[in-house]
Amino acid sequence: MSVNALNRVFDAATALVKATPALGGFSPWPDAPALAQREPTLVPVVATLHTELAGAVSSDGLAIPQHHQDLIDAILASADDIEWRRTYTEQEVGADFMRRYGYFELLGPSGHFFDQSTRAFIGYWGTGLHYPWHAHQAEELYFVIAGSAEFAVSEERCHRGVGDTQLHTANQPHAMTTAKDGHGILTFVMWRGDGLDGLPAMTPDVI
Ligand code: ZN
Repeated sequence: MSVNALNRVFDAATALVKATPALGGFSPWPDAPALAQREPTLVPVVATLHTELAGAVSSDGLAIPQHHQDLIDAILASADDIEWRRTYTEQEVGADFMRRYGYFELLGPSGHFFDQSTRAFIGYWGTGLHYPWHAHQAEELYFVIAGSAEFAVSEERCHRGVGDTQLHTANQPHAMTTAKDGHGILTFVMWRGDGLDGLPAMTPDVI
């Protein structure tokens, strides 16, 4: 496993957090967390990530900020060293969803870098996917690195594009649908609070 590759991802994520007050203010970001030994684990979407993120632009067609691009480049450079995960089963989300999404825990209790007060994931969903209603105890802040999606909380529907954030409070059911054309969505997701080491679980549809 390439330690340097993962360090590059962490350094790019640190730059993103420091440049983004909403992220820096959400939960503490450690200076030098210990690197954990995690086995690289690939999921199908990794094979298409380079293509899907090539020339990523914001939803209004503008080039994305350089510190977003630096993180994308670091993820692509280290994709084969990452322990990619998929929380759900094909029965819950369908085969197409399973083929075209994946995430990893960069920082946290079971992350590539160890921390017990902040958990940070990087997740990708391809175009035209519906992430059904789900919830978890930890509070969550999504930040859009590239692409866009419609987030659903209660009866609210919010389009979130590059640089936007989306907050989910403890145990609040939420759902997400990515745009049918253009790029999928690459997200930086922070968790804090009770239930930090938990997992999301599907909930009944809210509407
Ligand atoms: Zn969530």
